Amino acid sequence: MATRLIWQVEAWRRRVGASTCLFVAIFTTSLQAAENISVLGNKPRWDVLEHYQQTITHDEFAHLINDVYCTHGFAPDLIEIKDDSARILMNRDFQKFFTLRFAASDSARKPVPRLWRPAKSLSPSKEGKPLSGLKIALDPGHLGGKWAKMEERWFQVGDSQPVQEGDLTLRVARLLATRLRALGATVSFVRSTDEPTTGKRPDDFHELARKILIKNGVPQPRADILDQTDPEKEHTIRWQSEILFYRYSEIRRRAALVNLKLHPDVVLCLHFNAEGWGDPTSPLLTDANHLHLLVNGSYLPEELELDDERFEMIRRLLSRAYDEELPLADTTAAAMSRETALPPYAYPTTKSTTKVGASGYVYARNLLATRLYRCPVVYCEPYVMNSKDVFARIQAGDYEGTRNINGVERKSIFREYADSVADGLVEYYSKARGKSD
Ligand SMILES: [Zn+2]
Repeated sequence: MATRLIWQVEAWRRRVGASTCLFVAIFTTSLQAAENISVLGNKPRWDVLEHYQQTITHDEFAHLINDVYCTHGFAPDLIEIKDDSARILMNRDFQKFFTLRFAASDSARKPVPRLWRPAKSLSPSKEGKPLSGLKIALDPGHLGGKWAKMEERWFQVGDSQPVQEGDLTLRVARLLATRLRALGATVSFVRSTDEPTTGKRPDDFHELARKILIKNGVPQPRADILDQTDPEKEHTIRWQSEILFYRYSEIRRRAALVNLKLHPDVVLCLHFNAEGWGDPTSPLLTDANHLHLLVNGSYLPEELELDDERFEMIRRLLSRAYDEELPLADTTAAAMSRETALPPYAYPTTKSTTKVGASGYVYARNLLATRLYRCPVVYCEPYVMNSKDVFARIQAGDYEGTRNINGVERKSIFREYADSVADGLVEYYSKARGKSD
């Protein structure tokens, strides 16, 4: 009943809203034993790691494994760190291992192969353009529009404008793009409309959904949901097909865009957070409001059991995305906390996250987007959408200057979000890259 337990945990998370906005793995078991791959995952290409031979020292590898990526432990046969090499399990059934040879010292390290450029390797910025030459991809979270209800990223208070996270994030992304371009950056969108980037639709996943449900202990899954209060809705083919579409297929398609077409130096994932709102047509409004940012790391032992996730973790570790995304996230978090005055979010459990960095606002967590986008990724989670304050600010819409909202003169929430992220980037890149003479 372990899987059942996972479903219960997920349902609980949704109720308390601990991670309403995050991508949480629902299916931790794969469908085929020999091919031990996560849902819709790609077969790992271990040969790619040959390019990383002797690009990392023993100490750096051990530090990243122990303090960033595998902070919750793992089965001993998965990764064995020796003095001069690491032995990484490729496939347990076949007892195949990959051997990564360490650099003997910092000075003997070979260059790290990667398509993105760290701040310090960018040419000096142009006068007044601190982000010149930098390629930024903006990833507005979720879909919004007519998909918002399916995504469970929708609520409405009385006759007020419905709150749809995917629409809010796209609005922020458009404002942010304008600011970043004015600062010299080249900006692309991972999603620029409220339509999915994936060509698949829920109907394409009925058979897979059925197989997953059967595998997870629901021998005769029902086709459809009775209504939104149906306690068994997560055990229906419809609900599973929809999540396979809007989460798994959609994010994997976005990853293909980032990795094969856009080739950015950094991706900014833009989200709004929420606390459990209960009935979306009569949502609970709360006083809680907070901010946090995420970078990739903190893999769960069961996630590391999957061959593709373990491979993707090692590839990400070796790319040293963390060396760039952590200080960038920390600096951006500081700017956002200054401008939003939001306190740091505290996860109710430390089971899936690890606090990292110095700002107090940044956590490592293994999300699909932060794992799959092969460059530094900063994942922003400001504002509780169903807090009374944020709800009022969302209803006020976008405007120039300031307005009095709940007795306080405020910028529009969309501009405050965009401006604070842009300010964080300016601060980070101004410090981290050289300046022109
Ligand atoms: Zn979100």
